[in-house]
Amino acid sequence: MHVTQIISEKCTGCEDCVFVCTLKAIRMEGGKAVILEHCTDCKDCWKRCGDGAIYSGETSAASAAGPQQSTEDWRGVLVWLEGDDSGLQPASREVLAAGRRLADDLGVYLEAYLVGGSGAARDAVSRGVDRVHQRAPAAPHTGLASAYESPLLGLIRQRQFEIVLFPDSLPSWELAPRLAQRLQTALYPPVSALTVDFETRELLGTIHAYGGTYFSEVTTGGARPQIALVRGNAFPETSADPSREGEIVQAA
Ligand code: SF4
Ligand code: SF4
Repeated sequence: MHVTQIISEKCTGCEDCVFVCTLKAIRMEGGKAVILEHCTDCKDCWKRCGDGAIYSGETSAASAAGPQQSTEDWRGVLVWLEGDDSGLQPASREVLAAGRRLADDLGVYLEAYLVGGSGAARDAVSRGVDRVHQRAPAAPHTGLASAYESPLLGLIRQRQFEIVLFPDSLPSWELAPRLAQRLQTALYPPVSALTVDFETRELLGTIHAYGGTYFSEVTTGGARPQIALVRGNAFPETSADPSREGEIVQAA
């Protein structure tokens, strides 16, 4: 008996999972994916579904009854990026690298909300983002919150990312606490290392103080999404691979 399940409310009917399943253990019914009995729980489709609609029914039987309430329904990693036509800013390249590693560890897509030009979007894909939600920078006189808070909030609510990372930058310091408050979740202070508990998918952040002589590990105790600020110069950048493929979509 397989444990792979579909959250039908989140399934957009894109059929990506159907194409990735080499066992043909998924079929579409009424525009929604359905898992067939001979599924072997290989998880290939879990990683492919960019909408977080595939999950383990074994680890969260409650999800079927209340999909909005379970941490199992939150899947994927989102990073906030900034750049221009020449590429991503250095702090954004670092947060991208941190997000890429976590996405690989969790077996999910890495997505980005990018404020910047097409050069920055291509740079993001080449460094490991699977889907870039790109938008042009707001006019200079527009406040950050009014320009980006609502669209970002809408994207996080719609996609239910389990982890959202911000670089240690001025826009992040304004946006991240406001988003955490509106999503009723906790915000990690700037962390210099990030790992995940593979069983609970909980984010473990390391914070350093007193010039690095003191450190402690922090978690948000199961809250979703897990929003963290990433300290600068702590995460080595991923190298760019111009042949890497990813999706670039226009964001609100
Ligand atoms: S990949 Fe996800 S959203 Fe697309 S059909 Fe499969 S379950 Fe639905
Ligand atoms: S878990 Fe593997 S076998 Fe099962 S439906 Fe997904 S891709 Fe197919």
